[in-house]
Amino acid sequence: MTSSIEIDKEFKMVSETAPVHAQVTMTQDGGADTALTDSDVVMVTGGSGLIGKALEWVVQEQARKGTSAGEKWVFLSSKDGDLVDRAATEAIFVKHRPTHVIHLAAKVGGLFANMRQKVDFYRQNVLLNDNVMECCHKFKVKKLISCLSTCIFPDKTSYPIDETMIHNGAPHMSNYGYSYAKRMIDVMNVCYRDDYGCNFTSIVPTNIYGPHDNFKLEDSHVIPGLIHKCYIAKQEGTPFVIWGSGTPLRQFIYSRDLAELIVWTLQNYESTEPIILSVDEAAELSIKQVAESIVKAMDFQGEVVYDTSKSDGQHKKTASNKKLRSFLPDYEFTSFEEGIQVACDWFVENYDNARK
Ligand code: NAP
Ligand code: GDP
Repeated sequence: MTSSIEIDKEFKMVSETAPVHAQVTMTQDGGADTALTDSDVVMVTGGSGLIGKALEWVVQEQARKGTSAGEKWVFLSSKDGDLVDRAATEAIFVKHRPTHVIHLAAKVGGLFANMRQKVDFYRQNVLLNDNVMECCHKFKVKKLISCLSTCIFPDKTSYPIDETMIHNGAPHMSNYGYSYAKRMIDVMNVCYRDDYGCNFTSIVPTNIYGPHDNFKLEDSHVIPGLIHKCYIAKQEGTPFVIWGSGTPLRQFIYSRDLAELIVWTLQNYESTEPIILSVDEAAELSIKQVAESIVKAMDFQGEVVYDTSKSDGQHKKTASNKKLRSFLPDYEFTSFEEGIQVACDWFVENYDNARK
C-alpha cells in the first residue's frame, strides 16, 4: 500500500536502529530547476522493494535531521496499482500528481530467475517502463529517474565498463530479456528529450544488497539467496551450498548508500545520459569472498560446498564509477563487512515477515 511522508521541520520518526554509514553533503549545483520545494511531490514506484525501502529510510533520516526542503514523498507498491496496466498507471498519476518520479518498479530477479523467464522479464519490464514514461510525459513530470543495471552491458566488452558502452553489443545470454528491456529506457530517455524536451535520466547500479531484499531461494540475487541458505544450513545442521564455482566477480553496493546517491541524483545530476552508481573497482569481490563474509556474519560453523553443476553466469561486469567520483570524490561507501552484517542481522530478526 502507499506510504507517504510529508516532510516538515517538525518531522520526527522512530527509524530503524542501524546508523547512516555514509553521508552525502548535498550541493545545489543543479540550479533552480532541480531544487526541491515544499510544493513538490516525489513519487517512488517500487517503493516497497529493496531500494524503495532504503530510499524511504534515507528520506526519513534526512527529514529527522532537518535537511529536506519540505517536499512530499509517496512510496508505491504493486498493491497501489499494476504498472503493467496503462489505466492503472494513469490512475496513480491522477491520484498523486507527482512533480518528480523515481522509477524503481520492475520485474527483478537473480541469475537463475532471468535464465528461466526471458519473455516475462522482457515483456513486463517493457510494458511497465512504457506506461511510467508516457505518464511522466503526459502529466508533465519535472524529472524522471529510472533504474538500469550493470548486468545489461555487452557480454563481450573491454573493462571497466562505463556509461557510453551500454549499446555496444549483445548482453550476456543469461539475462537477455531483462537487459534489452532495460536498455530501451535509455533509448526512450533520449527520444522523450528530443521530441518533447522531457527531463528523463537513468541510474545504473551494480548488484545491490541490504534489508528488505527478496530472499527467495530459487529466484533471488546471490546475496539474499546465500543469506537464506546459510540460515537454513545453520538451523538444520546441513552443508551451506554455493551455486557455481565461486570465481565470478561482482561489485556490491549497500542499499542505503545507493538510496543516498539516488537522492543526490535527484537534486544534482542534470543530464539525460545514464550515471553508474557503483562502489570503486577495487571493491570488486568474488562470489567465494561473499560466501565467506556471510559465513562470518551468520556465525556458521558447518561445511561449505560449491555446486559446480550450477551456472556461473557472466564472469564479471566491472564498472567504472569515474563519472560519479567526478561529482562526489569523497563519498564513503559502507564497507562490505559492515553492510553484510546489517543485511544478515535484518534477515534473522525479520525472518517471519521477510520476502522468502
Ligand atoms: P525488488 O526488491 O524486487 O522490488 C520490486 C518493486 O517493484 C516492488 O516494490 C514491487 O512491488 C514493484 N513492482 C514489481 N512489479 C510491479 C508492477 N507490475 N506494478 C507495480 N509495482 C511493481 O527490486 P529492487 O531490487 O528494489 O530493484 C529496484 C530497481 O533496481 C529495479 O528497477 C531493478 O531492475 C534495479 N536493480 C536492482 C538490482 C539488485 O541487485 N536488486 C541491481 C541493479 C538494478 P511489490 O512489493 O508490491 O511486489
Ligand atoms: P548476476 O549478478 O546478474 O549474475 O545475478 P546474481 O545476483 O544472481 O549472482 C549470480 C552469481 O552468484 C553467479 O555466479 C552464481 O553462480 C552465483 N551464486 C552462488 N550461489 C547463488 C545463489 O544461491 N543464488 C544466486 N542467484 N546466485 C548464486
